[in-house]
Amino acid sequence: MSKKVLVTGGAGFVGSHLCDRLAREGHDVICLDNLFTGSLMNIEHLRSNPRFSFVEYDVQKPFVAEVDWIFNLACPASPPHYQHDPVATVRTNVLGMLNMLDLAKKNGARILQASTSEIYGDPLVHPQVESYWGNVNPISRRACYDEGKRCAETLCFDYHREFGVDVRVVRIFNTYGSRMAKDDGRVVSNFILQALRGEDLTVYGDGSYTRSFQYVDDLIEGMLRMMQAENFTGPVNIGNPGEFTILELAQLVLELTGSTSKIIHLPAVEHDPKQRKADIALAKEKLSWEPTIQLREGLTKTIEYFRKIV
Ligand code: NAD
Ligand code: UDP
Repeated sequence: MSKKVLVTGGAGFVGSHLCDRLAREGHDVICLDNLFTGSLMNIEHLRSNPRFSFVEYDVQKPFVAEVDWIFNLACPASPPHYQHDPVATVRTNVLGMLNMLDLAKKNGARILQASTSEIYGDPLVHPQVESYWGNVNPISRRACYDEGKRCAETLCFDYHREFGVDVRVVRIFNTYGSRMAKDDGRVVSNFILQALRGEDLTVYGDGSYTRSFQYVDDLIEGMLRMMQAENFTGPVNIGNPGEFTILELAQLVLELTGSTSKIIHLPAVEHDPKQRKADIALAKEKLSWEPTIQLREGLTKTIEYFRKIV
């Protein structure tokens, strides 16, 4: 059945793909974004759809609308962006979450929070399961994001217990695909752009740290299944369990782009999590979800996108 859906952060990388999918499925979509890291270009093609509307707005302020579903994605997501104004990042995470939970409470709406694998910090349990509480340094430069997202999860579960709000929490692992901002400094977009421009690929540290990389279409499918699931709040991991070192990623990008760029090593980043791999047993059990696009295929599609825009 068609729903009235609010997507905060809808002009960003993940948000714009989510708006596409919701619009395609016949829902009425309000995309709310302050355009801090998002772009109108990402939603340009949706603007002529009468069931789609865009509101330039900051989630730090209360928002009024009649909605059935809320997807709360508003938050800068790459380390350089969220560390640019760390206090604003905390405000966005905490005030934004409060405002969206109040809106959900007022409407009796279901709300999904885009949480993150950063909840686990520099994890001491590997792969990461939802029952692991994490290893986060509350005073590091990453904490504005990590602790902000942890507090947002706390608020979701307190609104659920205290007011009966129908909350959904997904912990998203590193995601890549078309519409990643060119300047956002994340490793996949950095390496692809460097390879296509014939520049050196910048590996921070020795390249032995690991991540599991998920293609954006798999994430959107997981988020929608979570929103539609009955009696399941999560938190649930949504990620691709394939684990790669950053050096392996760099070599794969060079192979797939056919670039003659070199790999160089720059100083390691402070408090960079050493390993990350999603345990997705819970998502498989509760949502019958698992990723279908593996790294080689997803990178090939993403490279095609970046070739067109550079
Ligand atoms: P993004 O930066 O492309 O999108 C975030 C969007 O939020 C942008 O359009 C930005 O303008 C908007 N925004 C930021 N602050 C806002 C505010 N105060 N009010 C209104 N809008 C605001 O990043 P993304 O990768 O698309 O991430 C989307 C969400 O998913 C974020 O909440 C992020 O934490 C979460 N997430 C993403 C990943 C990933 O790998 N992409 C991993 C884990 C979690
Ligand atoms: N990284 C890197 N070179 C880059 C960008 C990132 O070696 O040009 C590393 C970074 O230090 C981290 C990993 O790649 O170990 C993933 O970084 P990203 O910022 O994409 O995501 P996150 O750290 O949030 O997982």
